[in-house]
Amino acid sequence: MSDNSGPLENFQTQVRRAAETLGLDEGVIEYLISPQRVQESNLTVELTDGSLKTFQSFRSQFNDDRGPFKGGIRYHPQVDADEVKALSGWMTFKCAAINVPYGGGKGGISFDPAEYSDAEVERITRAYATAIRPIIGVDRDIPAPDVNTGQREMNWIKDTYETLEGTTEPGVVTGKGLESGGSRGRVEATGRSVMLAAREAFKYLDHRLEDATVAVQGYGNAGSVAAKLLDDAGARVVAVSDSSGAIHNSDGFDTRDVKNHKKETGSVSEYPDTTEEMSNEALLTMDVDLLVPAALENAITGKIAKGVSADVIVEAANGPLTAGADEVLAGRETIVIPDILANAGGVTVSYFEWVQNRQQFYWSEGRVNDELENHVVDAFGEMVDAFENFDVRTYREAMYIVAIQRVVDAMEKGGHWP
Ligand code: GLU
Repeated sequence: MSDNSGPLENFQTQVRRAAETLGLDEGVIEYLISPQRVQESNLTVELTDGSLKTFQSFRSQFNDDRGPFKGGIRYHPQVDADEVKALSGWMTFKCAAINVPYGGGKGGISFDPAEYSDAEVERITRAYATAIRPIIGVDRDIPAPDVNTGQREMNWIKDTYETLEGTTEPGVVTGKGLESGGSRGRVEATGRSVMLAAREAFKYLDHRLEDATVAVQGYGNAGSVAAKLLDDAGARVVAVSDSSGAIHNSDGFDTRDVKNHKKETGSVSEYPDTTEEMSNEALLTMDVDLLVPAALENAITGKIAKGVSADVIVEAANGPLTAGADEVLAGRETIVIPDILANAGGVTVSYFEWVQNRQQFYWSEGRVNDELENHVVDAFGEMVDAFENFDVRTYREAMYIVAIQRVVDAMEKGGHWP
């Protein structure tokens, strides 16, 4: 398998592999790997200096057999049609794997928000919300945060939608701030499911998470929260990184303090308690018990996978391993807990947020975390059962088997009309 393939090809390879194990027809497989529709909109926005700039944006609505399209909005220069298609496909099988009643979608704007003022980012966000307004809705397609977006952007999207529609509809978007109808526990949810998936994996292997050393690649929302919760669970976080590079200390970092340092200086590098600075690639091949890739797609290629020495990889990012890396690791001791389970905490608590919005009844953080834990533990058990009952080599393929069966069941119950 080529390492130069993009995320869409990687996603399609993952689905095809499990679908073939299930013996599905080629026509069904083609359906499962293709988005239902993708909207591309050019957003022309007036910048603060009075000049005009046009931004390319997308919303991919991959599949709605199990419920409304659901998935985040990413702001990154790397965003393109193929990336959002892949990410929306992963959302489809993530929602099925973790068993929340949604299909999959994803959107994005191709730009780096750090290069624009807050007022400009707000205008770009509201232009995007206006462009997707006709195709989103509380029962149609529900956006959420992803790379470089958060509560602030979701609040703007909600406000734009409600203003244009002349109604209040907080459940049209999730990941909002608490004051705008957000859920307790949503900000930490992705990192929390990563920690829970790691905990279950160590339990399953009969290893102790309390004694584990951990390396986390990427220190955004998913990576920094996963690091903190793993630290709280007793593991030793010995290396972390972001796009500026990696920092290492074999005694373990104070993960909260590293986050403060990143907030103040913009990156993890030059953190005072560091004993060694290294490259992201060096972090990925470090001798640790647990590796958490929490940045972008394709971080671990087949070539890098050959050097990986962690016992367990828990995918906090979407699509961080190439199909080539999967192939290398399938033949080894290392087990990979796939993204569609490990980072599904985000969309699971998005689902809780949407339920709370619709009922106008808000839950305690304890209830959110307990219900999230149930979903992760159940999905982990279903993945292990599939691993034991089907002829598969990876836990990814096992989790896809569970997820694909759910999507195909829903699709078949609905029939094929027109
Ligand atoms: N962007 C997150 C993901 O990739 C969350 C999506 C959501 O909450 O809808 O899973």
